[in-house]
Amino acid sequence: MIRKVYYIKSEEGFTSPPTRDVIPALVINSDKYFLSTYRSECMIKFDGQPSNIFVCFTSKSYLHYLKDRLRGLDTDMLLLDYLRYPNARWCFCKRCKQVFKYYDVDLEKVVDLVSKEDYMVELHYRFLRGDEDIFLWSRARALSLFNFVKELASSVSSSLLMTLPYKVQGISMSSFKFWLDYLLIDYGVNLDLLSSVLDGVVIAIGYPPLQPLSQKVFICLKSYGFSVWILKGNVINSA
Ligand SMILES: [Zn+2]
Repeated sequence: MIRKVYYIKSEEGFTSPPTRDVIPALVINSDKYFLSTYRSECMIKFDGQPSNIFVCFTSKSYLHYLKDRLRGLDTDMLLLDYLRYPNARWCFCKRCKQVFKYYDVDLEKVVDLVSKEDYMVELHYRFLRGDEDIFLWSRARALSLFNFVKELASSVSSSLLMTLPYKVQGISMSSFKFWLDYLLIDYGVNLDLLSSVLDGVVIAIGYPPLQPLSQKVFICLKSYGFSVWILKGNVINSA
C-alpha cells in the first residue's frame, strides 16, 4: 500500500485528508503557533535557554490543545512525526526537573555530561556501564514522552504511526542494539513502551535510500508488534 504524506499545519487548522490515499502527518515536538500563546510551555535547554519552537511533553495545555484539534479529524491513519526530544540537551524545564528529582537523578551530573561536545559517546558509555543516574534520567524522559502520547492516543480512533530516523547521531539502524540505546538516550524514545499505544513505525530512509532495511531490523520491529513502513520523499510504503 502506498500513501502520500500530508503535513497538517497548526495555524491552518486540522483538516481531514481529501482522499484515502493521503495520510495526515503531524509534527509533535514543536508548534510555534501554540507557543505564541503559551510561551511558558516551551522546552528549556540544559543551559537555561528557552526554545521558540519545541514544546515540552509534560505540558498539559499542549496535550489538551492537540486533543481538541484532533477530535475533528476523520482519517484511518495518523502519522506522528518528531515524536521525540530534539536531543539529550533538552528538556530541563521546571516540570522536567521535578520529574528528575522524583527519580532521585543527580541533575548536576547529567547537565555537566550533556554540555560536553561529544555528549552521546559519554552518556552511552555510562548507560552501558549501568550508571544509575543516566539510566533513571533516560527512563524518566521516555516516560514523560510515553505518557504524553498515551493520553493523546486515547482521544484518537485512527491507527497511529510514528516516524523513526534511520540514523541517530551517526549510529545507524543496522547496529540495531546501539541504535535503540541512542533512540532512548538522545530522543527519549522507548519502543517497548510506545508499542503499547502505537500501531506502526515509519522509517525515514532518505531518498535515494541510504541502504535497504535489513531483515533483522524488520523482524525486531515486528516483534514489538509494529507494522513497518518506509518513507521515501513524501510517500510511505508498507515494508
Ligand atoms: Zn520539560
